[in-house]
Parts: sequence; structure tokens; C-alpha cells
Amino acid sequence: MRVGNQATLQELAERIDQADAVVIGGGSGLSSAAGYDHYHWSPALSEALAPFREQYGFTSPLAGFYHCFSSYGEQWGYYSQYIRFMWEAPTGKPYLDLQALVADKPAFVLTTNVDQQFFRVFPQKQICAFQGDFSYCQCSQPCRDDIWENRELVKELTGRLVGVSLLWEWESRSLIHKFLKPCMI
Ligand SMILES: [Zn+2]
Repeated sequence: MRVGNQATLQELAERIDQADAVVIGGGSGLSSAAGYDHYHWSPALSEALAPFREQYGFTSPLAGFYHCFSSYGEQWGYYSQYIRFMWEAPTGKPYLDLQALVADKPAFVLTTNVDQQFFRVFPQKQICAFQGDFSYCQCSQPCRDDIWENRELVKELTGRLVGVSLLWEWESRSLIHKFLKPCMI
């Protein structure tokens, strides 16, 4: 580590130590450092999304969210595989380290990250994920503010994946309906 960085880190540690409370602004770099780079292909997501990357030539994992899929089966195939991977991915070390750094302080997190990692290390009431989080569903209307965890839903959907597409049968449609209108479950 460069000497300059060391001095900056030292000062940061001292300021955290002196602070009564800490507000954390967390962005995508924290997840990239954890091995979950959503803007460039890195080993973990490359492996998890390999068939999709090969099929569509996505320039990054996130590019798949902007892709115009030719069927709902393919669209939700990608979404469900991606989201399931993040549900099952271990908590990244930078998140664990950050939590340990402020463990004895009142802390609040403001984040643009949607990949659930902050929720692993801080209680929900201490996080404002103002761009949402893809581990939850909300009614697409939306008819209410409630959100629902989608862990079981993505597990069921990925169980219906053949290659890059979901088996497009009634069961898949009804599962996707649960995504779009979870209030109807
Ligand atoms: Zn609704």
C-alpha cells in the first residue's frame, strides 16, 4: 500500500473513532471489491451467468437488464439466475470489514447498491437503499408500499431454466405473475 493511502486510512480510522455516529454512503465499488462487479465481468458473475453471456454477448452483468429479450422466458431466465446467484453468494469481506469498523457506533447506510450485501451486515432499519434491492419484489402497479423477499421465487424459476430460457409453461407464467403482483399471492 502506498504511504499516501496509509495516511488517509489512518486519518479516517481516527475520525471514525472520534465520531458519535457514522453515516455510510456505499456504492458499487464496495461490491466490486467483494468480487461482485456488476459493471464489468469478473470471475464469480462470469461463471454464474456464462450461458447468457455467451448467448447474448452482454458487455457486463448489468447490460442484461437493459437487453431487449425476445421472450419473457429468456428475460426472466436471466433475472432469476442473476438474483439467485446474489442470494446464495457469500457476504463480501469489504462489507464484513466495514461492519466491524463501526460495530460500536450508531450507524446508518445510504446506498445505491441493489445486491443485498448491505442487508447481510446491517439491520434493515439502518439502511436506506434508495434505488431498491433486487432481492425483493413489489407490486408493479404499485398498489402498496410493501415489498417481499424473492429468494424462494427465484429458486423455483431457475429450476425451470433450460439453457438461457425458462420452460415457458403455465407454471412459469404464474411464477412471474408472483414477481409482478406479489400482493396477489
Ligand atoms: Zn398490487
